[in-house]
This record gives sequence, C-alpha cells and structure tokens, in this order.
Amino acid sequence: MRLFTFQRAANLEQAVSAPPQAAFLAGGTNLVDLMKIEVLNPALVVDLSPLQLRQIEVRDGALQIGALASNTAVAEHPEVRRRAPGLSEALLSGASPQLRNAATVGGNLLQRTRCAYYRDLATRCNKREPGSGCDALDGWTRMHAILGTSDQCIASHPSDMCVALYALDATVRVRGPDGERELAVSDLHLLPGAHPEREFSLRPGELITAVRIPPGDLSARSRYVKVRDRQSYAFALASCAAAVQTEGGVIRLARFALGGVGTKPWRVPEAERSLQGERATRETFERAAEIALRGAKPRRDNTFKVELAKRTAVRALMLSAGAPS
Ligand code: SF4
Repeated sequence: MRLFTFQRAANLEQAVSAPPQAAFLAGGTNLVDLMKIEVLNPALVVDLSPLQLRQIEVRDGALQIGALASNTAVAEHPEVRRRAPGLSEALLSGASPQLRNAATVGGNLLQRTRCAYYRDLATRCNKREPGSGCDALDGWTRMHAILGTSDQCIASHPSDMCVALYALDATVRVRGPDGERELAVSDLHLLPGAHPEREFSLRPGELITAVRIPPGDLSARSRYVKVRDRQSYAFALASCAAAVQTEGGVIRLARFALGGVGTKPWRVPEAERSLQGERATRETFERAAEIALRGAKPRRDNTFKVELAKRTAVRALMLSAGAPS
C-alpha cells in the first residue's frame, strides 16, 4: 500500500469540501482491499465514519436508508424485510457476515468490479489504466458480462444489492459542493463504452447520502434469486430481483433486474411490459426472460450464462408472483 494522507470528516459540509480527487472511506471493504494491492492509490482518504448517515426509516411511505447503514443493518431491519424483502435477500446473499457488518449501502453502490484482470497489475486493463487494452477479451471470461459490454471492457457488475435496488425503482440522494440532488439508481452506473474508467455519474466531490425506495405494494412482493459456484461468499453467475403483482392470476405490474450478467444491473423495460395483463405462468415469464436476454453477447467461457440468466429470471418471477413451479 502506498503512503496517503488520512482525514476524518467531522460533518457532511467538511466531507463535501474535500478536494475532488480525495477518496471517501466508509466500511473500507472495497477501497482498502484495492489500496492494498495498489489498484487504487488515492493521495487523500477522507473517513466518513463520524457522519450521521446510518438511519433506516419510513418517510411519507418511502423507505429511506442512510448511506452509512451497514449491509447487515439494512438486511435485518423489520421495515426492509416487510416493504422490500428482495432487498434483504439480495444483501444476505452477498459476501460474508463479517463483510456485511462492515460494508455500507453507499460503498455497495460504488463497489468496483471483481474482474481478475482489473486486480492484477501485471495485466492490461482499460478500467485501471485507460487506453492500455483489455486482457479479459481473449482471456478467462467465465465471470464476465454478456450484456452492456463494449470492445473496451466486459467486466460484470459485482453487486447484489444494486440489482434489487434497480428492480425496486430506487433513487439515490447525493450531496456535493453545489448542493443536493436525487437521481435514479439506474443513472448512477455508466456503461463501459469507450471509457470503462468512467464508472459512475457522480460529479467531482459528490457524496451519496441516502437511498430511497418509493412507496407501493409492488416492492413488498420482491424476491431475489442468486446462482453462484458455491452457496456462500461468492459472486453471482446470474441473479435476478423480481417484483410481480397479480390479481386473479393476471399480472398487473412487474419489474425485474438481472445481476451477474451485465456491466451494470440489467433491466429491460420491454421485457417488463410484455408481462402486463398476461397470466402469471411459467410460459409468460419465459417469454419475458427471452426478451431480457436478446442483446446478449457471450464469449468463449460464459455462453452458459444466457440460459442460466433466463432460468434465474423465471425462478425469481415465479417466486414473486406466487406461481406454482
Ligand atoms: Fe479491465 Fe474491463 Fe478488461 Fe476487466 S474487462 S480487464 S475491468 S477493461
């Protein structure tokens, strides 16, 4: 690890007035990890732990979660379990209990890819070193993305929590030198395109302060299904967060997002629309999953993800709809 300056922010104002190149430290489960292997080398680290951003509460029917709430606190909160069970399931499927105790919601939203080449300084990686090339393209791609890729980067997005937040239509509240703003969580993460090093739409100096899940009965029906190489402490090969509301066996509203297969959590509005007004059957969900995976571009080692993602989506949709399997 390289030398750096450590500062502790006493309050939000102090945090957002830090120089734009400073790295914010929350739980440290991702940042410190990457600093140890010298993939990230910030000259200044600003510790956010004194900030009062841990509250989890219901405001005007919406669930509001402070950015420094731990993954464990969110997953186990009774209002989260009741209003957004899919979010709780997604969090509990991620990492290990020790990591979940330390990791925060803000950090989870901004966590970096687990692409093995990104973490290996001996390889070429456009995300780590813009313009250097991408050794994953002709390398081992079992864990890589099949949706949203570019010829510059095929890294999959690692978060489970974010997949649930996409399906729940969550918004992210940020505070920066120019004040506060709120954006859709789906607008926070950028596709790699020609610039894989640009991962987030945050402006210089902006800090995530909270996540908001809008009110509505749909979120209370959400479920999360994750398929991985082993049953704990493993990243998703494919996952799906789904929320389906039915009336008399007919789908009124449905949303779903895929994880483990996209360069960001993957939602396809056309696939969701295809469900509306249809009977909640396996065939209906299979058609929607087919649409969701239409643009998939698998590589040598991850062709299996196309079918796996479809089946994972169908499973999550059926669970949420309470459809007989
Ligand atoms: Fe880097 Fe992306 Fe290529 Fe992985 S896939 S080596 S993160 S450019």
